[in-house]
Amino acid sequence: MVYAREKKTSIAVDAERCQGCLICVMRCSMRFDKSFNPETSRIRVIIHFDRSPEIHFTEECDKCGICAKHCPSGTLILGEKIAV
Ligand code: SF4
Ligand code: SF4
Repeated sequence: MVYAREKKTSIAVDAERCQGCLICVMRCSMRFDKSFNPETSRIRVIIHFDRSPEIHFTEECDKCGICAKHCPSGTLILGEKIAV
């Protein structure tokens, strides 16, 4: 399990559970861009040819936790809030 950089909330990523639905990408870009736009999302999900998922957060991610709250597979797990 890999922990994203901590600012407001830690988000653990268990990438093997990812189903590639892109709900996290949609929810993040809706927050910033009011549209489904993978280019403005602060979370990037790449499904490789062998179906292995790769998930990372951009530098602009402020760990609001919206993506984790809407992940249906338990891939993104909200941790405790921490001081910024
Ligand atoms: S924590 Fe917030 S800003 Fe970061 S990727 Fe998720 S929804 Fe986007
Ligand atoms: S919402 Fe969860 S299962 Fe769907 S692509 Fe994002 S991390 Fe993967």
